[in-house]
Parts: sequence; C-alpha cells; structure tokens
Amino acid sequence: MSLGKILACSLIFAWGARRLGKDHGQSQAWGSLQGGILTIFMGIPGRIRYSDTNLNTPVSQPGMVTHPSADLQRVVADSPRRAPSPPGMTPLVIGGEIIPPGKRVRLDLPVARLPTGTMMSLPVTILNGKKPGVRLWLSAAIHGDELNGVDIIRRVVQAVKPHRLRGSLIAVPVVNIFGLLEQSRYLPDRRDLNRSFPGSGRGSLASRLAFLFMKEVVSQCTHGIDLHTAALHRVNLPQVRADLEDPATYAFAQAFGAPIMIHASHRDGSLRQAAAKRKISTLLYEAGEALRFDAEAIARGVEGIYRVMDYLDMYTPPDSLPTPTTLESRETRWVRASRGGLWHRSIELGEVVKGRQSLGFITDTFGDKPVKIHSPIAGVVVGHCQNPLVNQGDALVHVARVE
Ligand SMILES: [Zn+2]
Repeated sequence: MSLGKILACSLIFAWGARRLGKDHGQSQAWGSLQGGILTIFMGIPGRIRYSDTNLNTPVSQPGMVTHPSADLQRVVADSPRRAPSPPGMTPLVIGGEIIPPGKRVRLDLPVARLPTGTMMSLPVTILNGKKPGVRLWLSAAIHGDELNGVDIIRRVVQAVKPHRLRGSLIAVPVVNIFGLLEQSRYLPDRRDLNRSFPGSGRGSLASRLAFLFMKEVVSQCTHGIDLHTAALHRVNLPQVRADLEDPATYAFAQAFGAPIMIHASHRDGSLRQAAAKRKISTLLYEAGEALRFDAEAIARGVEGIYRVMDYLDMYTPPDSLPTPTTLESRETRWVRASRGGLWHRSIELGEVVKGRQSLGFITDTFGDKPVKIHSPIAGVVVGHCQNPLVNQGDALVHVARVE
C-alpha cells in the first residue's frame, strides 16, 4: 500500500471512529468502516460515491441473502483490517461502483470491443431504495429481437422513485446488445445467449456476456424477472413460465398475476437454470411477438412487475391495479403442420379449445388438398404461428392444458 493510501486510510478510519462516537447506531458505524475499507482498497476515490445518506441507512436487512460482486469479495478478502461484515450489511456494488441508497444510477458495463474499435457496453440502471429490502433484477432482450420487455422496463424504471423504494431494482433493458442492433435473436456468432449461462470470462462472446450479467446483476439479487416474447413469426399470450414445483417461485409467479402461469423445467444453459442453482427465484415473462410492440403484452408486464414489487414489499404502486385472474398449467403441446402449404388459422390467442377441436387447415397454393389441424388436448391457446407459409413439421399452435 502506498503512503498516500495509508494516509487516506488513517483519515477515513478516524472519520469513521468519530461518527461511531457521535452516533450510537450500529448501522452507521459499520457503514463508516465499510466505506473506509472500500475507498482505500478499490483505490479509485473518484468512483466511490458513498454519501452521508447511505452511511445512515443500512443497505440491506438482516437475514437477506446477498451476493457481493467478485470485486468486492476480493477487496474485503485482501484487507488486513477486515472487519466481519454483519449479515445483510453488504453495500450494493456494481461494476466497481458503490450504489448509494436513495439514488438512481446509470452504468455502462464494458463488454467487448467491436472490430471497428467501438466499445460495446451493457447499460444498467440501478434504483437503490432508501430503505432496506430485497434486490430484484429486470432483464429484457436476452434474445435481441424481443422488444416488449425493453418498453416494460422503460415504463417501470421511469415511474418508480428511489425514495419510495425498499430494497433495490436493477434494470437491464437490453442484455443482448449485439442482437438488438442486428434485429436478431442471436449473437454475431449465431449463439443463443439463453443457452450460454452461467458463462465464462474466457469463453465465446455469448459466454462472456452471460458471465458479466451473472457477476454484476444476477449474483447481486434475491429475485429476478426475465422478459421475453415469442420467436420471430410467432406470438404468445402474456404468460409466466417458472418452476411451479418450487413453493417460493410458485408464490412469486402467482404474485405477478399473468393471465396464465406455466410450469417449465429448467433448460440447460438458460438464465433461469443458472439463477436457480444460486437459489434465486426467477420468473420468465413471455408476451407478444419479436420486433413488435404489443400494447396488451406491455401493459400486462408492467402490472405484473408492480404486483411483484408490492408482494416483495419493495414498492406500493401509485394506482390500484386490476385484480388478476391467473390460470395454471403443467402441460403444454405444440400442434405441428402435417404438411407444407398455406396455414389458415381459425382460433385466436387466449381462446379455450376442446380436445380434437379444429384449429384451422393447410392447403396448397391453389387451395387444393386441404388438411384439417386438430388440437390433441383441451386447453387454452397460449401461442401460435403468424406466418401462413409453413413447412411440414412447423409449430402452428401452442395449447396449454389448464388445471
Ligand atoms: Zn426469448
């Protein structure tokens, strides 16, 4: 440690000790000590924004599960004067920045340099509440062409005021920044980001981006909501997909109040799987279609997030929200095209269908040789193909059996 840092260390500890004498609250004392340690060992005083406000307010509550970033863990572990952190007193640190309570902070986390030399960064907005509480992340556009979630996050982040928030909201409106620019689901190397979690700092571009997102966002949080739409040329009824076998996640999904919640086991390499391994409850909200804004899908998503924030005791929504009616499903079936041709759909999204009910028919280009398509199960139409031009085997209608 340089002489300068030793001097800074003494001054900050003296300041911390003075506060300790002045204020008898335990949280202030710990806040001062932690602020001092971090200022010294991160060695970048200009990036530390640890104000008096946050020293007077504990960042998290006792018993809360917190996951300090790797940087913070390193800083504390290296410290020879390390004070044992009381449970739940970990400051929120993202990208090396300490986020003060009661503040809204916008960060751009560097991801990778483009061939042109431009640095691509991950935009993150953090709303850190004045009062302690859970930490919730909101993410969208993990598939770069899925835009409804981007607007859902915009609406929530603009409306929520940090001084009315308990806990923290970490919003990442565009995770797959590369895909968004290309209007593509994938990364430039054609990899699916949602099959690349938890990722690695030395892997493919997708793997590195997944790793950064896990380290800086997911591992900081207690809960998460990942926003999606159907893939290109398909549309989804607003729905929550989650591990409904897990009681905590079930209650979380119920709180969201989507028109339907569907049990979905974890897929290898998905964000949900990676978060579940860290015991972080995650919901996946699916609504609308790729490369389109859908007013209904956006409205149901915003309402759902407000309900969840209310349920998690983070935020009291300003207006009363409509009481939701949520269906529940543990089995869904994709009905596929039995031949190639032009698909004439006769059902709508959200429609209740009976077993063996006709869903439409496929013909050749002249309307000859029609083939009827039937639902194999009774249920609700939760998604369908939008493109009438289909090949044999293409997914046409997604039906969920409801309980
Ligand atoms: Zn998606």
